[in-house]
Amino acid sequence: MADTKLYEILGVPKTASDQDIKKAYRKMAKEFHPDKNPEAGDKFKEISFAYEVLSDPKKRPIYDKYGIQGIKEKSGGGAADFSDDLISQLLGGRLFGGMGGPFGMGGHSRRQNRGEDTVHPLKVSLEDLYNGKTTKLQLTKSVICTTCSGKGSKSGKTFTCTSCRGMGFKIHYRSIGANMTQQIQARCNDCQGEGEVMDEKDKCIHCAGRKVLSVKKVLEVNVDKGMKEMQKIHFRGEGDQQPDQEPGDVVIVLQQKPHERFQRQGIDLVTTETITLTEALCGFSKVIKHLDDRELIITHPPGEIIKPDDIKGVVGEGMPIYKNPFEKGTLYIKFEVQFPEMNFSSEAKLKELESLLSPRPSIDLPAPGAEHVEEVDLVDYTPNERGGAGGGEAYHSDEDEEMGHMHGGQSVRCANQ
Ligand SMILES: [Zn+2]
Ligand SMILES: [Zn+2]
Repeated sequence: MADTKLYEILGVPKTASDQDIKKAYRKMAKEFHPDKNPEAGDKFKEISFAYEVLSDPKKRPIYDKYGIQGIKEKSGGGAADFSDDLISQLLGGRLFGGMGGPFGMGGHSRRQNRGEDTVHPLKVSLEDLYNGKTTKLQLTKSVICTTCSGKGSKSGKTFTCTSCRGMGFKIHYRSIGANMTQQIQARCNDCQGEGEVMDEKDKCIHCAGRKVLSVKKVLEVNVDKGMKEMQKIHFRGEGDQQPDQEPGDVVIVLQQKPHERFQRQGIDLVTTETITLTEALCGFSKVIKHLDDRELIITHPPGEIIKPDDIKGVVGEGMPIYKNPFEKGTLYIKFEVQFPEMNFSSEAKLKELESLLSPRPSIDLPAPGAEHVEEVDLVDYTPNERGGAGGGEAYHSDEDEEMGHMHGGQSVRCANQ
């Protein structure tokens, strides 16, 4: 494909006359002169370089035939005023000086060498991330039409779009305050951004002149052990095909579905177990079903008391580490203690409990009738009605903080919560 970057820089078609080139150069040089537009330094250099080549009756034919590489090699130092950086930048396809260049963020050059990536989310369970999984994903993509080999027509003949002068886009200027103009680059609708049009009767029947066809493609996605939420899996070159362009990638982005029993915190897992007060005081054994269906028996020996919200860990039973799946994090178990519902009103039972636990401390109460002393009623407290202390928010942040401590004070938060 012939290199037309220098024409694009000046916004003129390849067929432009010397006069057109001069006019376009003057207009753009004024616009992007460093005195007036200091942020567009590279752009000014590009414009100057393009003009130097295209206005030179010797260099222009060399460029038309061999592109920028030809100018570099054959013009015999004619481009001496321009750094190799600029030339390699132009050769590298960074036409508009990258992000924030004068054509703005997201500016899209139709001549760029690589197509855009196609991003697909993939929902996975925590089990999938623990055990690993291969899943098939069907997607629709564009491939080059084989009938016309991506030409779009039978003859391969095209004509420069008159509406955009072959640029594929049009530039609008908008004033955004004193001495400031914003350039808006919009795709040309007459040629669908192609810069060229073809004869209606000449169009390829198979692709109707679109040069590409939509096909269904099945990708086999390997979700490896230990992968995490938002992790990307790349399929190089599986993106949409376009003529004269290297296709982009298909990028699969993992999204973890919430799990009903386990939360993930980095390489660790967190679960909650409810035990009775008797178990908390007397010890217990419990079974925890893991993400690979193994049943873990955890035992807490009699004689050691578990208090509400105590956290215990099982080393090596957390998440597998990505790319090193035999190493695993820790499984943390947070205990909730369920207090008995039974009624201890019998004086004999209370005495029995006191003998086992500890006697109730005796407190010297002030005389109820004395000055500054009032006897008040205790009622049940429902946090939702007050919204103050003990509200749901406060509880959650306490919990987060507590989990954070387990990681040496560094609060590890799981994005999937
Ligand atoms: Zn057009
Ligand atoms: Zn075709």
